[in-house]
Amino acid sequence: MTLHPKAQEAARQFLKRLGDEGINARIISGTRTYAEQDELYTKGRTKPGPKVCNAKGGQSNHNFSIAWDIGIFDAQGAYLPESPLYEKAAQVALVGSLEWGGNWQSFKDRPHYQMITGLSIEEVRARFERGEPYI
Ligand SMILES: [Zn+2]
Repeated sequence: MTLHPKAQEAARQFLKRLGDEGINARIISGTRTYAEQDELYTKGRTKPGPKVCNAKGGQSNHNFSIAWDIGIFDAQGAYLPESPLYEKAAQVALVGSLEWGGNWQSFKDRPHYQMITGLSIEEVRARFERGEPYI
């Protein structure tokens, strides 16, 4: 599923800034359904592996098409799941309209970026489900 048009525009500019700095990044996850988010939430909890998120369905900005996760790739095109480049990416491409998951206290999510709405996630969800603007 595609991002919200405003998030698409922000993501394009974000990726351009990274490219200008020589960071090879791509969006590897954007919009998720509530069910997909619930499935992700089980990882590192009831399913094996590391925790990958801290939000259930309806609690993530991914559900409202205003968040994306990047993957960083090396010059040969190999995916780098862990790299200091995730910190560098935030340094060069985090602008006023964006929030970085690496700044979160409870669960640092370095590949994660989302639009700042000025609303609580509950309010975003309520507006989303009513079909009203939230960004
Ligand atoms: Zn994310």
